[in-house]
Amino acid sequence: MAMEREERGDRNGGGRGEDRDKKRPVGRRKLCKFCGDETIKIDYKDAGLLKYFITDRGKLVPRRISGNCAKHQREISTAVNRARMIAMMPFAVTGT
Ligand SMILES: [Zn+2]
Repeated sequence: MAMEREERGDRNGGGRGEDRDKKRPVGRRKLCKFCGDETIKIDYKDAGLLKYFITDRGKLVPRRISGNCAKHQREISTAVNRARMIAMMPFAVTGT
């Protein structure tokens, strides 16, 4: 099978500068915010802090995105759950 790839009709407005460099920022691990700064306390009453770790749909942001370490991610989730109990955090935000 011949794989033919013809690139023409380039619409990108002149110049074919489509260099797909497969660069991935691997190896640079984000440091856990709470490990980096011990002055920050994870408090379930601190909605302003917790909201950074839930999505706009009210779900907990996964660790790989938030960059937290396991220990602190756990504390976050505990805190968020407590906050939910006292109705400071949504369980789930349904669209509309
Ligand atoms: Zn940590």
